[in-house]
Amino acid sequence: MKFDLAYCLSLDDKLSIYDVRDLNFDETMEFDSAKEHFQCPNDACRSAFDAANVLGTFNAKNVNYVRTPHFKNIPSTRHVEGCPYVSLKTPASGLEVDGAESDDGREEHFPSELLLTRREYVRQPSSPTVAADVVRDEPRVPSAASNVEHPSRESAPDKTSVFAHPVECFVSNFEDKELLKRMPLKIGEHSAPYGSFFKKIEYLQDNKGLIYWGKIKEIKDYTQSFRIDFEQKVWFKQPDEAKKKPYSVNVYLSKKLIDNYRKRKAFLEEIKHAVDSEAELYCFFYGVTPELKQVPSKKNPEQTFGVFSANIENLDHFIVREAPGLADK
Ligand SMILES: [Zn+2]
Repeated sequence: MKFDLAYCLSLDDKLSIYDVRDLNFDETMEFDSAKEHFQCPNDACRSAFDAANVLGTFNAKNVNYVRTPHFKNIPSTRHVEGCPYVSLKTPASGLEVDGAESDDGREEHFPSELLLTRREYVRQPSSPTVAADVVRDEPRVPSAASNVEHPSRESAPDKTSVFAHPVECFVSNFEDKELLKRMPLKIGEHSAPYGSFFKKIEYLQDNKGLIYWGKIKEIKDYTQSFRIDFEQKVWFKQPDEAKKKPYSVNVYLSKKLIDNYRKRKAFLEEIKHAVDSEAELYCFFYGVTPELKQVPSKKNPEQTFGVFSANIENLDHFIVREAPGLADK
């Protein structure tokens, strides 16, 4: 089994790798995962060892990643016998390879709900438990009482407030259509399986309030603001027309939106990387539905043309990324 969460010593709470990424890039919060201690989320296991028994992270600080971020055992990580996280991948020989796992693999933990309110954290003033802890060589046998889960985290493990988490579930499991049909997702009042909550941009007229996604045709860089043009078009019939016509789709990111974003630096790095990138990129967003608008033509300002467009309102629910598995599907 994979780590769905890890215990973060300084925050005294269990975090998903997506929470960790969000904290790393949040300019309003002092947090650097490279300096934090993450431990086994199994309370019984964790309490059996000292604070030096830690987990590693993969893709915790990389703004642009392709492979699924996760926590992992490092060669020195120990678990008590029977801990469900004891060995995440064991070769056929039964021997563990350096106690470490490979870094590929898809996201297995599907949050059942994306919370639209951000999670709040309280940093512990100091870590008295660490100082007082005595190094124990032998793992303690977990008692029944210590198996009781932390009561404060009703949102974990199956709710998240980080958009990148459900997006990674969708992207890394894209081949497994049956799984995406089976796994439920709730955002606000709307519930649907992952497979239908994620809607290709060309079908945005089917339903409002979904997560729309599509391949990016071009990112217009206006230096302080950006426009994402999608490759696919929306087919739409105007009331006074005989048949459907294709319309371009785009989303707009204003300067004000970007300037006020708590993860501004990481966002600019992400979007500037995307502007220069040769790779095929995809855009995912939630919270707005592009609608048909008339905009003046550049060549002939007296004329207007129709385009499906929306202004992104919350960058927490917007992602531009590589997603190789989605190509040509
Ligand atoms: Zn453990």
